[in-house]
Amino acid sequence: MIKKILIANRGEIALRIHRACHEMGVKTVAVHSTADADAMHVRFADESVCIGPPSSRDSYLNMHALISAATITGADAVHPGYGFLSENAEFAAMVEEHGFIFIGPTPEHIHVMGDKILAKEAMIKTGIPVVPGSSGAVFPGPEAHKICEEVGYPVIVKASGGGGGKGMQIVRDPSTLDQAIQIAKSEAKVNFGNDEVFVEKFLETPRHIEIQVLADTHGHAIHLGERDCSLQRRHQKVWEEAPSPALSQDQRMALGERCAEACRTLGYRGAGTFEFLYERGDFFFIEMNTRVQVEHPVTEMITGVDIVQEQIRIASGKKLSKTQDQINFDGHAIECRINAEHPETFAPSPGKVIDYHAPGGLRVRVDSALYSGYKVPPHYDSMVAKLIVRGEDRQECLRRLRRALEEFVIDGINTIIPLHQALSLEEDIIAGEYDIHWLEKYLDKKTNS
Ligand code: ADP
Repeated sequence: MIKKILIANRGEIALRIHRACHEMGVKTVAVHSTADADAMHVRFADESVCIGPPSSRDSYLNMHALISAATITGADAVHPGYGFLSENAEFAAMVEEHGFIFIGPTPEHIHVMGDKILAKEAMIKTGIPVVPGSSGAVFPGPEAHKICEEVGYPVIVKASGGGGGKGMQIVRDPSTLDQAIQIAKSEAKVNFGNDEVFVEKFLETPRHIEIQVLADTHGHAIHLGERDCSLQRRHQKVWEEAPSPALSQDQRMALGERCAEACRTLGYRGAGTFEFLYERGDFFFIEMNTRVQVEHPVTEMITGVDIVQEQIRIASGKKLSKTQDQINFDGHAIECRINAEHPETFAPSPGKVIDYHAPGGLRVRVDSALYSGYKVPPHYDSMVAKLIVRGEDRQECLRRLRRALEEFVIDGINTIIPLHQALSLEEDIIAGEYDIHWLEKYLDKKTNS
């Protein structure tokens, strides 16, 4: 059994992993940049190591500093969380080469799934439907035009190594295709160090539906149902819920089982998420995430499964704690991502939190590393809290969400709490009728009115 875990992350997810560890009797090592010396994840951990200056590149992305920190503290394993090095195959391999357990899939699986072209190829082989598009990389020129004519406009040009919703170009008119490919390539090069891009059909009204899976090293794989993450701004999730208001139990179980089966075929280990676009009854795979996701708590709220503890069990060589038959979907859960941003302009709002009060009560969960007096540093992601609530059904969940948002006090910085309050009262949201473009249209309307 793993006894000590180095958590290669910061903020709420570092705290979340720490909590899972301590409930299992596992010791924790926090790492932090000089900007995070007073952070909550550092205060709670059993030990902490400073790994560098504020910039992520020199600290949370510094592989050698992380390996050194694991070595000097005698950790057995490394949990990467999400973001940073969580989907970096080179880091996973380095962790293993130095004799530590990497809490995640094999470096090979991280590599394949981190490359959207390879991931789509792997899915086609396992019989999972993908968004129609080019079968490999595209370049400006006649070949790309031929492919896009076949796929049918509009198309979307995407980076093979992409993430965080960056670098996508929508093309409605063939005369702009070459230029869009060129722009996507240079953005991909700058953001991901890999300028490979591909095209796929741009879907006009899909929902983003993703399936959570867990697979152990004994050949067992299960799914924990879906999350609906259609409410997005700039291709980034803002609000997530489970179950999806759009799926039936039969659809859920059929798609979930296909994903679990794909894990068995691939010999996948760990937690993972298969992301799909869902339109008019059809699912199309877009990518797989090989790590714990920001929105994992909504699944935990309706299944009672602790996904991070399962990750640790799997990494320890144990069997999954539950079989598929033992997974029940109970009630409805919604998560709001609370970003330190202006609720209308979305301008980042780092700074000192003067007053902090988290909501509580029955079936309310707050994952955050904030506290009164904490200074949100300007160097990292703007998400500072997640509010997750559960209800017996979706309407009860929405009522509880409104009540919890009302109680949430984060003074001194701007947050998008007012946006979530407005969303929770919108007719379409109450009816569960929204697609991946709904939020952008709603925000456009608000700015223009
Ligand atoms: P990333 O890895 O950058 O998050 P994804 O491939 O997961 O990129 O896509 C992120 C979001 O971008 C999706 O949830 C969806 O909103 C939008 N998107 C991606 N592919 C398409 C597509 N083919 N058609 C329409 N929207 C898409």
